[in-house]
Order: sequence, then C-alpha cells, then structure tokens
Amino acid sequence: MQIGSEVGLRAELEAVLAAQRLAQAGAGAPGREARRADLLKLKQAIRAHRHNLVHAAAADFGARPADETLILDVGPVVQGINHLRRHLGRWMRPERRSVPITLWPGRARIIREPLGVVGIMAPWNYPFGLSLMPLATALAAGNRVMLKPSELAPESSRAIAALLREVFDPAQVAVVEGGVETGAAFAGLPFDHLFFTGSTEVGRKVMRAAADNLVPVTLELGGKSPVILSRDADFEKAARDIAFGKIANAGQTCIAPDYVLIHDEDAAGFAERLAAAMKRARAVAARREGPCGIISDRHSQRLLSLMDEARDLGATVIGAGPEGASSTFPAIVLDAPPDSRLMREEIFGPILPVVTYNLIDEAIAHVTSAPKPLALYIYSGSGAERDRILRETQSGNVTTNGMMTHYAVDDLPFGGVGHSGIGAYHGRAGFDAMSHAKGVFEEPRRSLIPLGRPGGRFAKLFARYMMR
Ligand code: NAD
Repeated sequence: MQIGSEVGLRAELEAVLAAQRLAQAGAGAPGREARRADLLKLKQAIRAHRHNLVHAAAADFGARPADETLILDVGPVVQGINHLRRHLGRWMRPERRSVPITLWPGRARIIREPLGVVGIMAPWNYPFGLSLMPLATALAAGNRVMLKPSELAPESSRAIAALLREVFDPAQVAVVEGGVETGAAFAGLPFDHLFFTGSTEVGRKVMRAAADNLVPVTLELGGKSPVILSRDADFEKAARDIAFGKIANAGQTCIAPDYVLIHDEDAAGFAERLAAAMKRARAVAARREGPCGIISDRHSQRLLSLMDEARDLGATVIGAGPEGASSTFPAIVLDAPPDSRLMREEIFGPILPVVTYNLIDEAIAHVTSAPKPLALYIYSGSGAERDRILRETQSGNVTTNGMMTHYAVDDLPFGGVGHSGIGAYHGRAGFDAMSHAKGVFEEPRRSLIPLGRPGGRFAKLFARYMMR
C-alpha cells in the first residue's frame, strides 16, 4: 500500500486497521495448523524471492554482497521461522499453574491468545530481517499485521511489499510504505501492540504516540555496544571478529561493536592487528560485489563529521582501508576525547574508537557509567574475569569470545535494556511478547471458597490462615 498524499493519511491507515479488526472478529484466533501454514507460506515466498531481495538491498546500499544479504539479513528469518514452526505447538498449549490451598480443588491455567493487530515499524539497515522476523513472530502468535518498512531502503521496501502481497490478504498482512509523516501517523494508530525497531530518538517519539492510545510497545533500539578485551584475550581472533563486525553491512548493524576497551599496553599492537584485519576483510568483500555501502550521502557525511570532530579534539585517525593510512573507511580512532560526538553517539558505521584502561575496573566503570548498551562483547581467556564483567555490567545481550552471534540463537531473547530497548523477541520471547497470557481459574462446583469469603462461616479461619 502506497500512501500518496498527506490528506487522509490517517483515515487510510485507520481503514486498513478496521478491515483487519473486522476480519479478526469474523475468523477468531487461528489454530496451530493455520499458523504453521502461514509461516510456511512466508518462508516459501522468502525463498522464492531471494534473488529479488539480494538485488533490492544492493540497489539501496549502492553495493552489498549477496552473501551478506543472505546470511545476515534473510537467512536468520528463515531459521527463525523454522524455529517458530517447530515449537509453536508446545508454546500454544494451555499451561497448568499451581493453586493456593485456600482455593482447592480449583484449577488454574494460562491460555495464550493473539493480541489482535500488531503494528511493526522497521529500520533500513537490515530491511528484511528486521521487518520479516517480527512479522513471522506476530503471525506465530496468531495476530494480523500492519508493517511499515523504512523509506531509506525504498527498493527493499518495495520488494517486501511485493512478496507479502503475493501470499497474504491485506486483511491479514498489510504493508504501508512511506516516510516520517507516514511513520508518525502509523505510530498513532490504536494497535493492540506496536513493535518498533530503530533509533532511541525516534523510539521515544513512537512510545509517546503509542501512550496516547495505551498501546503496549516493544522497542528494539540502538546504543554504543562495547567490546572489552582482557589482557589474556586471543587478540588475533578478536581483531578478525571486530573487523568483520565493522565491515559487514559497513558497520551499520545495531549490535556492531561500537568501540573497544583494551589495556593501555596492548592498545598500539592491537590497533595494528585490527588495521590489517580490516584491510583483509575489505579486500575479501571487494571480491564479492562489495564492500557494502553507506546507506546515503547524509549518513556518510555524518560519519565523516564524527571523525573530523574527534581529530580536531586531538584524536589520531588511522585509515584501515585499501589505500592504507589515507583511506577514509574503515578507520580506527585512538584517544578520542570522551566528550566527542564519536564517543557519545552510536557510530553505526565503519569507524572503531579504541579506548584504553589500566585496571579492568576502569573498563567496567566505563560501561556502567554510560546508557545500557544493546550488546556487550567480552574477549577473555580467563573465566573469572569474563564472569566478573558479566556480573557487573548490564546490556541487552552478550557474546563472549565472538561477534554478534547471540543474534542467531533463536532460543535466546533478543532485545535491549534501558535506553537500548524495552522487551525482546526471537523464539519463545517473541511469541510471549505478542500473545496475551490469559489466566483462567476454574472454581469447582463444591469447595470451601464461598465459606471463606468475608462474612462467610469460615471467614475468621481463612483470615487467620491467610495472615499467618
Ligand atoms: P529510525 O529510528 O530513523 O527509523 C525507524 C523507523 O521509524 C523507520 O520506519 C522510519 O520511517 C520511522 N520513523 C522515522 N522518524 C519517525 C518519526 N518521527 N515518527 C515515526 N516514525 C519515524 O532508525 P533507522 O535509522 O532506520 O535505523 C537505525 C537505528 O536503529 C540505529 O539506532 C540502530 O541501532 C537501531 N536498530 C536497532 C535494532 C535492534 O534490533 N535493536 C536493529 C536495527 C537497528
């Protein structure tokens, strides 16, 4: 669905929502087999359209290797759908709950039912994964969906709309294309749940708009995700992993390593290893229709201005691209002042500041004094230091001795904490987030419950028992 003019924008969106609600009221909650069939249809359509998706993303980014799109963007959705289909039956089953003795022999259970219509707002950086995985999750939970992809990846948005139009009736899944204006109108709709992935700044606005209708939200936001390197870390592996994190999708990944914390004496040697690893990763990407481009000139300009400001404030910038020191991207930045924009804002691009510490306590304090990040990476040979960092820091998720892999574990909740997000999805966590857990208590025909009510024959006894 393409919204052409501002006039009647809200009315048009409301009409789509009303049609979905009407269809929901008529059809009721879909059963397990219907949900599994929807997921299968979605998976088959994604597989059938995969070449279109690869081309659309390459057009939006200027360049993006096909395997980056398939392994990092589209593949996780197919894997996620397989996981949802495999476990759906068990998650949907009513769950028995324990009952206090005063209510015996009553029976309690939880029934998980669809919320209704879920609104999904997606960013541009992984245009397929971050729209289709929330969609699959919402369908698994039996909901209908209005999906708004990002206007900054227009070819990908069109490809998503075409794919979904082919398999779903708009009364079940509708795609709404459009920019900020459309996004603002979309966020103001009285959905049963609003699932937003994007920046913390826009997330705040979306939550405010949702609050007017008391719409519950899941906010998958961003932040500065640190990498802490212990002195006994495997530096070679860490350098390779971090280079991958900054080159894949040109570092435009919500859980990309934002900056590195490393011991003062290890920093110079590590920066050299990292520069070499980045050059190698760039060269490999260049052989595969890459490297991935920065999404727009405005975003490139922003990244350059972050580096320029840091340089003006005394930082050293090391180009780590094919032309060596004179390369613009990727770049490693040493001694960036804490008050530079580079160290305050989420970078979201192929620039890596290296920050030094003398004691691991300083590294931990650096993380805990900043807003809670979406991801944290710990490279440590010793379990004791790793466990201490895990215990003393908070972040949405953690991968140890590796890079971004927690995202691919469908059985782990994926989400942020504090400023990096509210709520989580993937697997069971997503199913629960998009279902209503309805508690049902079946009072038996014969029981002591009425006698224990205020004024009842056993009221005093009940009161004494309850207050023990
Ligand atoms: P964004 O917040 O600019 O846009 C996200 C969506 O919101 C888009 O669909 C956009 O059209 C819409 N939008 C923009 N302005 C709006 C407004 N004023 N009102 C209503 N809707 C509006 O984010 P982005 O630039 O597309 O993505 C980058 C950000 O997303 C980064 O901060 C990144 O960390 C974060 N992100 C988080 C995750 C995660 O899973 N936690 C994943 C990817 C990206």
